[in-house]
Amino acid sequence: MDLGLKDKVFIVTGGAKGIGEAISKLIAAEGGITVIAGRSTEDNDKTVAAIIAAGGKAVEITAELGEAAACKKVIDFTVEKYGRIDGLVNNAGVNDGCGLESGSPEKFMASLQKNISHYYNLAHYALPHLKATKGNIVNIGSKVADTGQGNTSGYAASKGGINALTREWAVELTPYGIRVNTVIPAEVWTPLYETWINSLPNPKEKLASIVAKIPFEQRMTTSEEIANMTVFLLSNVSSHTTGQIVYVDGGYTHLDRSIS
Ligand code: NAP
Repeated sequence: MDLGLKDKVFIVTGGAKGIGEAISKLIAAEGGITVIAGRSTEDNDKTVAAIIAAGGKAVEITAELGEAAACKKVIDFTVEKYGRIDGLVNNAGVNDGCGLESGSPEKFMASLQKNISHYYNLAHYALPHLKATKGNIVNIGSKVADTGQGNTSGYAASKGGINALTREWAVELTPYGIRVNTVIPAEVWTPLYETWINSLPNPKEKLASIVAKIPFEQRMTTSEEIANMTVFLLSNVSSHTTGQIVYVDGGYTHLDRSIS
């Protein structure tokens, strides 16, 4: 199947590591140009180099996305360099453990800043350019919006908000032919996941107990499996899909675990 991404321009936030890295690489493998926006120049450069070594096209823009000005900078950079934006993948986020008991009003607001404000800010600044290309937006959410997790109010509120914004933006942007969808991971081995699991008591045992509860094949989802769905939704092959929240999680969020 030709996804039709050749020479189209896609911004991937947090595109240097984990799920974002897999998305960045797949876009380039399909002939698209990936703009990796993330906070570490060194990490971004590594992924750009790997993409170029594989024959693809990518550039990096270093940005701490919690700041609105940095989000504007990402959009301005992309438009100055390529003159267009065909898609935005809002992916960067952090499960930062700001709980009701353990957190504070200041930590809660800081968590929203890290997890949801840049989804809005980037979409806002990208909008005129997405209108010009009839491009589209894919957000990366989390099952925590449905299930809760405990001790992560800021992250959970952000991910719930992202699901709401998916439907809200899909409605607002339909007149412009812009589609908006969200992909939901549950358990994917990435640097973020490793940090989170190691923050728990007995991480090895905890990991084994989580993996045993994943209904489909009792294994974690790979970043590449999240990327496959994301890039499909980004492409015009999914031209009549909008406002959808798609779970790529081996059935972890919805299926009856007692049957597996
Ligand atoms: P990851 O391994 O930490 O990779 C995320 C990348 O984004 C890192 O390079 C990170 O930089 C960068 N980043 C994060 N916040 C940023 C910011 N404010 N400004 C600039 N760069 C930023 O994370 P991941 O596991 O791939 O997660 C990607 C997305 O999937 C997130 O939205 C997460 O909530 C969601 N998700 C993941 C899982 C999972 O099982 N892994 C499950 C549910 C949802 P640093 O390395 O410097 O932090």
